[in-house]
Amino acid sequence: MYNKSDLVYVGISKKALLNNITELRKLVGPERKLAGVIKSNAYGHGILEVASIISPYVDAFVVHCADDVARLREAGHKQPIIIVGYVQKSDMEWAIENGAELNCSGIEYATWAAAAAAKVGKKAALHIKVETGTNRLGAMPGELIPLGRFIAENPHLELKGIYSHYANIEDTTDHSYAMQQLANYNELVGKLEKELGFKVPVHHTACSAAIMLFPETRMDLVRAGIALYGLWPSRETLLSCHDSGVSIRLEPVMSIHTKVAHIKEIPADSYISYGCTYRTSRPTKLAILPIGYFDGFERHNSGIGYVLINGRRAPVRGRVAMNLTMVDITDIPDVKLEDEVVIMGRQGEESISAEQIAAWCNTINYEVVTRFAPFAPKIIVD
Ligand SMILES: *Cc1c(COP(=O)(O)O)cnc(C)c1O
Repeated sequence: MYNKSDLVYVGISKKALLNNITELRKLVGPERKLAGVIKSNAYGHGILEVASIISPYVDAFVVHCADDVARLREAGHKQPIIIVGYVQKSDMEWAIENGAELNCSGIEYATWAAAAAAKVGKKAALHIKVETGTNRLGAMPGELIPLGRFIAENPHLELKGIYSHYANIEDTTDHSYAMQQLANYNELVGKLEKELGFKVPVHHTACSAAIMLFPETRMDLVRAGIALYGLWPSRETLLSCHDSGVSIRLEPVMSIHTKVAHIKEIPADSYISYGCTYRTSRPTKLAILPIGYFDGFERHNSGIGYVLINGRRAPVRGRVAMNLTMVDITDIPDVKLEDEVVIMGRQGEESISAEQIAAWCNTINYEVVTRFAPFAPKIIVD
């Protein structure tokens, strides 16, 4: 039988993941609920691999869609699952039957949820998203009280939670916009609860940066994504934490590995790869790697990125192709066929971070890890 090839694989450090959970738990305390955000295939780390490691230590999972719930429930996970994305009408009955808690941002949608719940004979648990300034899925202030009342009075619906999400907390050291959103949240939700005459059971607003920087955002439950994977939400968040004396020691969970697939020596004045963008200025030894932009090793790495072989940096020469990349190993002794290549992670004294690759590709660490090698096996490395 053919086993899925590990020619390109995503290394997952269980040790790092458990460390990051412990660090987050230290910040939020034992009573508050800690939800692990494992949407988008756990930010590329593998939803099932991550869920099985973290499930004893988190109170809930946060996902984006019904497919995520299916994968978790099929794997036997019984935890509460909050869907913060959109579940379409035709998927609602299934989602409610399988105990997913749904995002709700309007009365029409709540009506559909009630009908689906009645059909499956189970209450639909809803989390109202309140618009506080990100302008994505949240219910507008004017719609909030009617929506809250509708859910509270409908026998097929349960108002489980109320939440919001910050727009400008990672990208800046000026947190006035986030603080205004928090003030908006408190005011709107305060009015709603006064109107309803009861407190919504679960209030939640904090993503990783909010968890770290602002204890007042943590409320009843926190939604930790990027920090779970050992990455800082941004350099600004790191600086703000330093300034405010918050200490949290994160360890990156993901690494990306492949092997040398071919070695060749070419003369000076040879061109490498599509477009002939690189021309050798000396006799050059190349290693050909079986990874390309299909695997998330983006074309932006052409001409600027490097990989690690034998603990040394091997610069990318010419354009990254769909499935192949050429790197210069002229100055790295003793490279052999099938030697390990680290695309991201540590090898010997050297390491390449998600942030380094993000800089080469003009993006952010979130996008780097989420898009790497979605079809490659995830292998626990320690
Ligand atoms: C993705 C997401 C999070 C997690 O954000 P991080 O910055 O990765 O911690 C939290 N809440 C919502 C609604 C999200 O969509």
